[in-house]
Amino acid sequence: MTGQSVRTFPHRKNPDGTWDSICSDCFRTIARVKDPSDLELFERDHDCAQFKSLSFRFRLLSESDTDVA
Ligand SMILES: [Zn+2]
Repeated sequence: MTGQSVRTFPHRKNPDGTWDSICSDCFRTIARVKDPSDLELFERDHDCAQFKSLSFRFRLLSESDTDVA
């Protein structure tokens, strides 16, 4: 794996007006923001392996934990 696989980050609008970005590779919600243009920053920095250790931090930022199966 050299990180050259193409990842996409579908966006999902939440009922509260925030936006989620979902990694097509690890299927995690990598960011939840009010301004969808901010998602690009998270997507650029997202590392599927690294994110596992950071997920606890994201939970502090997101009040609701609504993973879609
Ligand atoms: Zn990922």
